[in-house]
Amino acid sequence: MSTEELFREDAMLQSCEATVLGADEAGIVLDRTVFYPQGGGQAGDAGTLTTTSGALLAIADTRKHPARPGEIAHVPAAGADASAFVPGTRVVACIDALRRRAHMRFHTATHLLCALVPHPVDGCSITAGYARLDFHMNEPLDKAALTAGIARLVAEDHAVLQRWISEAELDANPGLVRSMSVQPPRGQGRIRVLEIEGVDLQPCGGTHVARTAEVGAVVVTKIEKKSAMTRRVVLGFAEPAVGRG
Ligand SMILES: [Zn+2]
Repeated sequence: MSTEELFREDAMLQSCEATVLGADEAGIVLDRTVFYPQGGGQAGDAGTLTTTSGALLAIADTRKHPARPGEIAHVPAAGADASAFVPGTRVVACIDALRRRAHMRFHTATHLLCALVPHPVDGCSITAGYARLDFHMNEPLDKAALTAGIARLVAEDHAVLQRWISEAELDANPGLVRSMSVQPPRGQGRIRVLEIEGVDLQPCGGTHVARTAEVGAVVVTKIEKKSAMTRRVVLGFAEPAVGRG
């Protein structure tokens, strides 16, 4: 069995109806979901599952099922009672939209950062409170210049588009793969790419805002030299963070 990934085609969806396929120590598996599972550096979604009879289950995180490829596990909050969520149960799955919005803004901002820092990426983490990218490079980076560069790309309001390309097309353009540690998934004949018009193009299956203006006020809060060949750039929101986690 597998979970239909509604968030891949429409990152704006906040809820959907679904049927429970399974429930085990990994979490609740649905036939379809709007919950993004942790991956590609982006944190998993939180939210709620509600049965038609009104039982509500708080979901603290979302993961790809560790044992069953293609299934997405909705991880109940600690101590939550998941006993009503047996296979066959009809539910409404609803994400924490503020937390997701933060993930989408930061995730899109990391693509802008990639365009400003033309070096390979060998680490990435995106949460609701901060995002960080590790660049494989030894040159120094300037915090104020990067913050100004992000602000310029946000102000220019570029369209953010997702599309599919064939593996053959990707192989003919190895420069598309910026990440050294996270290779695009292979074997399906096609790969999802994220294009910020005129700015950046790379394989990505995460969730993003629709235009760079929606990234809003994102600033570089810290630049660290993690090793001789690693520079870590940390991003934060200029306004108070919401939906931390
Ligand atoms: Zn992305």
